[in-house]
Amino acid sequence: MNYDFIGFLNDESVMVLRGSTKLEIMDELIDRAAELTRLNRDVIYRMTWKREQMMTTGVGNGLALPHIRVNDIPQPVVIVGVSEKPIADYQSQDAQPVRVVVFIVAPDENPEAYLQLLGSVSRRLRNPELLAKLTEGAPTEAAILQTLRESAESAFMNTKTEELADKAKIDFGCFEEGCDGAVSFRLADLNSRTFQAVCPKCHRPYEIDGALKEKLDRLLKLIGSIREAEDILGDCFVSVNVAGGSVRVPYALLLTRLNTLITLNYGGRSVDFHLRVEPSSPETFR
Ligand SMILES: [Zn+2]
Repeated sequence: MNYDFIGFLNDESVMVLRGSTKLEIMDELIDRAAELTRLNRDVIYRMTWKREQMMTTGVGNGLALPHIRVNDIPQPVVIVGVSEKPIADYQSQDAQPVRVVVFIVAPDENPEAYLQLLGSVSRRLRNPELLAKLTEGAPTEAAILQTLRESAESAFMNTKTEELADKAKIDFGCFEEGCDGAVSFRLADLNSRTFQAVCPKCHRPYEIDGALKEKLDRLLKLIGSIREAEDILGDCFVSVNVAGGSVRVPYALLLTRLNTLITLNYGGRSVDFHLRVEPSSPETFR
């Protein structure tokens, strides 16, 4: 299991901090942590400040990560606080005021979850753009939660696009007289500045012009959308009318065997592009 702190957030675990000193905002966070964990407030208070005295949890760039491990809670509790005012007395490692505090209370018996949560906070919030977005204007709980969820989603989409890049390939027959080579490339590579298609047999180079590139780009987006819908497409059928009735073809079969010819204009001639897409994994449509 992968523990991402954003998955642990809800309306109650996101708060705008009203205080203007470290002590005041810690009190707000500790109050909320006591409510959400149903643990004794004094216990949380003591552990938090004991930890804080060993070493400051202000990690720099306006971010602080106080965290404690306790017995007797089934699930980690994560609270994100965005302070209205910069907290200058937090004693951050870079001496900068703190604006965003992520407070983690994790079960003692699951150190793995604890480390993964901490890792996910620093990975996501190391992004200065996201930190700035969280604190801009007068923050509200709803806006904070939405910003964090959207950031998680866009990171997820980027991973999906990268995975897809490896699966969507295209090829066409070499134009050179007497050459039977197939010029093959990954659709996603089209947007790379160093992209160059070359026939593997005769080494004729191919320049993909803007108009064709634009079409292939839209094709890649289409494949991405199909990929996004794999879970529902697994239950879809395409019905084909034939003499004497109709044949139902599972959509999954079309997808896994997607072996499509697209005729596009290229360099003044009609070229059949042969498109190959593999499903995200062989188990996808089991
Ligand atoms: Zn060739």
